[in-house]
Amino acid sequence: MSPTPRTVERARTVARLQRAGYTQDVIAYHLGVTSRTVARLHITSKTLPPEEEPMASIRTWSDRAACRTADPELFFPLTYNDAKQIKRAKSFCHACPALQDCLNYALDNPDRTTDGIWGGTTPEERRRIRLAERTTAA
Ligand code: SF4
Repeated sequence: MSPTPRTVERARTVARLQRAGYTQDVIAYHLGVTSRTVARLHITSKTLPPEEEPMASIRTWSDRAACRTADPELFFPLTYNDAKQIKRAKSFCHACPALQDCLNYALDNPDRTTDGIWGGTTPEERRRIRLAERTTAA
């Protein structure tokens, strides 16, 4: 049985974070799933053909965003030191069906996502993921 589109998207995100050198536990934390799920998605990622369209378009997933009806200020905190607010925003993301698309979009479009919580990550967390991707690709 072939994986669903959502599983394919999640598996690609797991593969991307693994290529960037993230451990199974850290990936599980970012995606809001268990380590076991990450392990399963890793196996699925091995069966997928190469990506044809690496840059996710925001139009394809924004209608599924869990934050569509939330207060936007929750996702754009004045300071990233407010752990309570960050946790609240991330809890939306971890229940969001568009999390993987949103994270990939944010990672692929740093100029458009300099601020805010996107795909369960803060700007600093995305900066570290991009840096790790560049380091492992070099
Ligand atoms: S992952 Fe978070 S920021 Fe992205 S669409 Fe979903 S709720 Fe919104």
